[in-house]
This record gives sequence, C-alpha cells and structure tokens, in this order.
Amino acid sequence: MQDSLVIVGAGQAGAQVAQSLRMAGFEAPIALVGDEPHPPYQRPPLSKKHLAGEIDDEALHLRPLAFYEQNRIDCRFGVSVEAIDRDARELALSDGTRLGYATLVICTGTRPRALPLPGADLAGVVTLRTIADVERMRARLADPGHVAIVGGGYIGLEVAAVARTMGHEVTVLESRDRVMQRVVSPDVSAFFDALHRGNGVDIRLDTGVAGFSGEGHVRALTLATGEELACDLALVAVGALPNDDLARAAGLEVDDGILVDASGRTSDPHIYAAGDCTRFFSARYGRSIRLESVQNAIDQAKAVAAALTGGAPDYDPVPWFWSDQYAIKLQIAGLSQDHDTALTVGDPATNSFYVAYLAQGRLAAVDSINHPRSHMMARRAIGKTYEDGLLPPA
Ligand SMILES: Cc1cc2nc3c(=O)[nH]c(=O)nc-3n(C[C@H](O)[C@H](O)[C@H](O)COP(=O)(O)OP(=O)(O)OC[C@H]3O[C@@H](n4cnc5c(N)ncnc54)[C@H](O)[C@@H]3O)c2cc1C
Repeated sequence: MQDSLVIVGAGQAGAQVAQSLRMAGFEAPIALVGDEPHPPYQRPPLSKKHLAGEIDDEALHLRPLAFYEQNRIDCRFGVSVEAIDRDARELALSDGTRLGYATLVICTGTRPRALPLPGADLAGVVTLRTIADVERMRARLADPGHVAIVGGGYIGLEVAAVARTMGHEVTVLESRDRVMQRVVSPDVSAFFDALHRGNGVDIRLDTGVAGFSGEGHVRALTLATGEELACDLALVAVGALPNDDLARAAGLEVDDGILVDASGRTSDPHIYAAGDCTRFFSARYGRSIRLESVQNAIDQAKAVAAALTGGAPDYDPVPWFWSDQYAIKLQIAGLSQDHDTALTVGDPATNSFYVAYLAQGRLAAVDSINHPRSHMMARRAIGKTYEDGLLPPA
C-alpha cells in the first residue's frame, strides 16, 4: 500500500493523529501499530483514580474500538515496530510481517528511567507507565504494607497520595533537597512536602538509594547510608527517557528526542513524529524543548495532521500540565526553568494560591494550586504576550 500512512505507537498522540486526519478528510489507508495489547488509553489516571481502583481499564480508553473500525483505521495492537527501512519505506514488525508506508508518524512516547542498582530486577520493584504496571502494583497493594517510592516528582507523589489514602505506610526517597525540585519553586515544593507529611507520608530528602533486597521479591530497600528500609513494593519514579531508538537506528536526527520542526516533520520528509518522543525548537522559550504532557501529545498530533492535509502549522505551544494529590490540584502553565523571579500570590495555608515565574520581566510560567482562574489566565497571557501578565488576586 504505497499511499498509506502508518502510525507507530498507539498512545495519546498516535490516536490523535489518526482521529485528526480522518476529521480533516484524509482518505488514504491508516494503520495504527502499538506494542501494548490495549486500544489507545489515557495515562494520567494510572497514578491517580485508576491506581486507586476508582475507574477500570475500559474507562481509560480514549475511544471505543468501534471508532477505529468506523474510521477505517487498521489497528495492530500487541505488535511492535522493530525497524524502519527508509529506502524501501517499510517497517519490520515483531510478528514477522512487513508494512509499507508512504508517510510514517512516530508516536512512541517515553519509557521510565531505570535505576541500575543491585536488586532492581526483584519482583515488587516496579515502574509506572502502563496498565500492566498498575496490575503489578495492585497485586501488592491488596494487603496493608509498606510502599517505598524512589523519586519525589509528580508520579511518585501521586502514587504516595493514593497508597496513603489506601492505608499503606509510605516512604518517599528524594535525592534532592526538595520534592518536585526540577519543575516548581521552593514555595510549591514546601506546600506539597507539608501536604504529604500531614497525611502521614515519611519524606526523606537528600537521600540516595543503594539497592533492593529480598528472596525473589523485594523485602527491603538499602539507602546510600547503609540503612535498611522494609518494603513490600518499591516504585522507581525517577523520570522518563524518550523512545527515540527506532528513529536513531533509522538514521533520523535525534538528540534526547526525535528532532522535529513546527509541523512535526523529522529530518526525513516522509516521516513525522509527535508527543513525548519529540524535541522541537520553541521560539517562545528560545530553546529546544521536549514535553511530556497530554497537552503536547494532542496539540502536536493535531499539528502533524494539519501538515499532512495541506496546512502550515507553526507549533510552539504554551505547555500546560496538571497533577492531582489528595484533594489538591496543581496546574502548571508555561515552563518555569529559566525564571529569575518567582512571586507567590496568596497564602499557601489556605490551600489556594499561585506562583508566577518571570524571566527577564516576562511571564514565563504560573503554578496554580487549587486556583483554576490563575491557570486559565496564565495560559492566555503567556500565549498572547510575554509582558501581559494580568494575573488575578489569590
Ligand atoms: C503515570 C502517569 C501519569 C501521568 N499524568 C499526567 C498528567 O497528570 N497530566 C499530563 O499532562 N500528563 C501526564 N502524563 C504524561 C502523559 O500521559 C504523556 O505525556 C502522554 O501519554 C504522551 O503521549 P504519547 O502518545 O507521546 O506517548 P504514550 O501515550 O506513552 O504512547 C506511546 C505508545 O507507543 C508505544 N510504543 C513505543 N515504541 C513502540 C514500537 N517500537 N512499536 C509499537 N509501539 C511502540 C508505547 O508502548 C505506547 O503505547 C502521565 C504519564 C504517566 C505514565
């Protein structure tokens, strides 16, 4: 099928590319190849309501299976793409078949960063990215126990909140001097630190992990100090790496993510990419960025579909993200990494405030804690102009 389009990776971005193409009247055959056995699903609830058992697998699905059939999307789930032959414009699939393409869209997402420590391969030492990971965790969470979480980022803290709410003892081990250090200001870190401690989580900062031990199954975690911490489940949540190996092996330009332009086009004009696996230049932030968010997966996928149906997208988003921990919603608009000033507005003690980050006098980002109005205004303000920081009172 020489005129066909193939999407590798049946996640948030892959599903959106297929859907947006059909909505735009794209008529050529579309195949959606994904290595997980499920239809495309949303991942955010995996560390929130789904882990807590409040919603089942099916409620995660982005579209019912019938949607793909009705839209003539040839779904190949449970099959991975092992190689891209750019000269023949063919893919080698794990089921031994080959699949031709006229246009390829790579939406392979990320994988959890592993900790190469002794005992990291024991049962009960887990990472969280997929429904299968949640199933593994649930089996251990069925009985009361001790959950150790390595990494005090969003995923680690969201799981801490769920496990604590389920009644488990929870310890969070963070190598830096505050939680979520990479993405939020000291005030926001302090707020979430106090929130978790107030709920009974043992947070240990500046704490390294040396390994895991147990007979077949993890029973303890060893800290860098040599101290042993008993645990029945150890979640390693220390960040993610882009699944860009397939692209790299095919000779595409890759640098901690598949390099794409504002249309999602890679260094091969027949190959596009979207979602967590990409890196692109943001004029807004004056540097190349790689985003891991639902917003980016959806909006960049739409840009790719627009480019493939005759449009000329100029993808440079105002990134946004959220995290739910207990009854607190953190919403982040923009990127705060390059800020020189952080202004906290409102009193964190009221559980509703926001922090505005300025970079050279421009509004770069806003973290809103139970304060949706500032989040929406920040998205508009950052999108419109860097100086138009008309933020509401807390
Ligand atoms: C636990 C968790 C909580 C999150 N919470 C939030 C949140 O609150 N808010 C937010 O904005 N974002 C959140 N995210 C991030 C968000 O889910 C991702 O940014 C989004 O899923 C990215 O979509 P994607 O399509 O790029 O990648 P994915 O959704 O990961 O899809 C990629 C798919 O490609 C498959 N694949 C990879 N390689 C191959 C191959 N060679 N062949 C076939 N298939 C392949 C993968 O297995 C996967 O199914 C969370 C993520 C996780 C894991």
